[in-house]
Amino acid sequence: MDYEKYIKSVMDFPSKGINFRDITSLLEEGPVYQSAINDLAKFAKSKNAEIVVGPEARGFVIGGPLAYSLGIGFVPVRKPGKLPREVATVSYEKEYGTDTLCIHKDSIKPGQRVIVTDDLLATGGTIEATIKLVKELGGIVVGVVFLIELTELNGSELLKDYDVCSLIKY
Ligand code: IMP
Repeated sequence: MDYEKYIKSVMDFPSKGINFRDITSLLEEGPVYQSAINDLAKFAKSKNAEIVVGPEARGFVIGGPLAYSLGIGFVPVRKPGKLPREVATVSYEKEYGTDTLCIHKDSIKPGQRVIVTDDLLATGGTIEATIKLVKELGGIVVGVVFLIELTELNGSELLKDYDVCSLIKY
């Protein structure tokens, strides 16, 4: 399916010079959303994935239905102070300052086959931090999936050791 035509591009959002790729217009179209999840699920199935991990907030919109369609679990990665049980944390550099992400320490079993997902790959900082958390818990990252990859930001350089599937490339 030509998913690109369902993405709206918004110039100067959230700040000047940024061409924001808005996935919400794709999510509004039920059959398109379903088809995108099905495509990502085919990839995940081929990797014998046992669990899906995604960072808040838009990683949940992809990771939740992906896990559901495969009949496997979903693990949320969240900002500090949101997860109630004991967490592992990782901090990473953003354009302006650092950010921290957390995962429940007992959410992934050592050796478990993990698909990591987010809506969009830009610089790769968010997904790299998420992968670090998965590995700290002993998970094996068998694939990384996105709706969108912004190729000019070279995020895929950080993912060169992994099998990556993205449905739309800009
Ligand atoms: P990265 O960490 O630089 O790869 O940025 C990826 C994260 O920022 C993802 O969680 C995205 O949801 C968000 N993001 C960055 N740029 C865009 C965009 O153009 N559209 C939607 N989300 C974006």
